[in-house]
Amino acid sequence: MVAGFLFALFCVEWNHMRITFFGAAQGVTGSKHLIEVGGFKLLLDCGLHQGKRSVVEEWNRNLPFKAGDIDAVILSHGHLDHCGALPILVRDGFKGSIHCSDATADIARCMLEDSGMLQKQITNDLNSKRTEGEFITPLYTQEDAKRVFPHLKPHPYVRESHAWITLNGNIRFKLYDAGHILGSSVILLEIQDEGTKKTLAFTGDLGREDVPIIHSREYIEEEVDTLVMECTYGNKNHRPISDVAGDLKEIITTIVRTRGKVIVPAFSLGRTQELIYALHKLADAHEIPRIPIYIDSPLAQSFTEIFGRHQRDFSDMVMHEFKARGESPFAFKDLIYTHGVEESKILNRKEGPLMVISASGMSEGGRVLHHLKHGVSNPNNIILITGYQAEDTLGRKIKDGISPVKILGESYEVRAQIKVLDELSAHADQSGLLLYLAKTKGVKNVFLVHTEMPQAITFKQKVGEIYPPLKVAIPERGEVFDI
Ligand SMILES: [Zn+2]
Repeated sequence: MVAGFLFALFCVEWNHMRITFFGAAQGVTGSKHLIEVGGFKLLLDCGLHQGKRSVVEEWNRNLPFKAGDIDAVILSHGHLDHCGALPILVRDGFKGSIHCSDATADIARCMLEDSGMLQKQITNDLNSKRTEGEFITPLYTQEDAKRVFPHLKPHPYVRESHAWITLNGNIRFKLYDAGHILGSSVILLEIQDEGTKKTLAFTGDLGREDVPIIHSREYIEEEVDTLVMECTYGNKNHRPISDVAGDLKEIITTIVRTRGKVIVPAFSLGRTQELIYALHKLADAHEIPRIPIYIDSPLAQSFTEIFGRHQRDFSDMVMHEFKARGESPFAFKDLIYTHGVEESKILNRKEGPLMVISASGMSEGGRVLHHLKHGVSNPNNIILITGYQAEDTLGRKIKDGISPVKILGESYEVRAQIKVLDELSAHADQSGLLLYLAKTKGVKNVFLVHTEMPQAITFKQKVGEIYPPLKVAIPERGEVFDI
């Protein structure tokens, strides 16, 4: 009898299903959600926390779970805040597979290797100001990053597959196109729990409806009990994407007049290709004056090559516009890819008018810091902000009009004009998120993740007005929920 009771308890525990939000919880970085069911531990994303070093360093170095206990990972996409902690996971003892779309695997390899290199650079910079005994080690190295690669398990292009992939006797999943960046997926889990079937969808980052280059996001066909939903722009709506052309035209015309430089901190993946695509179309239509446009980011070049390998992921419009005439959307007259650090440095001495597109997107590292350092105090220049700028980043400070700002350890007055192209955002805005929710069938519980609090609170209120019976939570970091 006692044994039977214990067995029953064991069974309840065994089939107990819960989710813990370890990152991108009341914040937009470090995406990491742990699903536990039937003793199986499945991690959705394993992203890097970014922002104030004094805060995130400790979170990144010490994973909030035992790496060796994790049975499998599914990656939504290849942005570092979603995959950047994988080298730590593998180094700490993870032995399982990392499932993702095929384009995400290509992107993650490139992204992680670069991140390993960057971690080393940051550590060297910090150590140069320290004395022996205070030296720190990098978060991870390029070698650590490469040890992730054998664990990657790419699955064919999501729009065509939609096939269930079995993880174990209890869990299977499929990937839907999230329309956020190349390869990005919404992960749908089907979980057998005590004889009943439950479904949970994790949006990863969700694209907008009219995203350029790649296909627009898809909607899930199955009923979804629990939706873990990104909410980056839960409190605002973007301007239509068609406004980008007008803004770019105005910016380039201004820079020709001032003979200055347009400095564009841009994410090497996605944003850079979108800008190139928009500029290519304007140049073809003779709608912008001819100025040299430099792509000063080796990583962006690698990603542009990856884009070339995954043309099936392009929208029909891109295929029609460029493929038909045998042209790459990412190459045109006046567009110059720099090679090597020397060419990058020469740009700082070059006279305008010119445009330089360089990483990182939030100006937290990379070559763009040198361009900003040389250009931010010149009123003839324009700093063009093209993506979400997280709190405490240099990009956010520039966007918010703060001056002076610290760049590479020195203080600079911001006298350049600041322009913002929010409409290029790769994230759905409030109405896009509401539409996604409306088109997802059967939802009973919603968890808002990948969001700062003001955005999440506004969105939760909005959802409460439209769908009063829906349970909406904004989980804290480390909070656990039964599902
Ligand atoms: Zn993303």
